[in-house]
Amino acid sequence: MKSLPITKFGDPILRSKAKRVDLKFLKTSKFKTLIKDMVYTMRRNHGIGLAAPQIGRSLQIVVMETRPSKARPDAEHRGPFFVINPKITSYSKNKVKGWEGCVSIHGIMAMVSRSKKVSVIYYNENGKKISEEVSDLWARLFQHEVDHLNGIGFLDRVEDTKTIITLEEFNKRFTKKKKDKKTK
Ligand SMILES: [Zn+2]
Repeated sequence: MKSLPITKFGDPILRSKAKRVDLKFLKTSKFKTLIKDMVYTMRRNHGIGLAAPQIGRSLQIVVMETRPSKARPDAEHRGPFFVINPKITSYSKNKVKGWEGCVSIHGIMAMVSRSKKVSVIYYNENGKKISEEVSDLWARLFQHEVDHLNGIGFLDRVEDTKTIITLEEFNKRFTKKKKDKKTK
């Protein structure tokens, strides 16, 4: 496994629509290597999601994995999940505000309002079509990652630009301090 270079905002690939994946590609060793490298890269960069344009590939492939962290101590460990050619088919009217960051704009956090629940259709890494409703952090993650596939960044979604802060200040002000020894 190798860590792939992350594309940063300013790179035009993050402003273009990613290409749909031909499902035949999922059977290839190139695909299998790509998703393994994407998981490794996501973990190395402390992300909970990574879309292929963020590693310079214009493809509708996303990896997602949640885990408890300083920023989200209550998050469950779930994943990694692979999401191919996703579509959000419905958004709940009920929206919730929450902090977001992005490995392609390192060091910045902001409050983004997202639908609490979304219905999604996508293919998994085996080419199985999946249709499900996701909520809370997973709904936020889907919305953030599907935006990447459409050339949209989370800062485009910020309603109050005064909530844009540095990661340093975010860690100082909004993460829970652990009294015990640092755990992995
Ligand atoms: Zn992102």
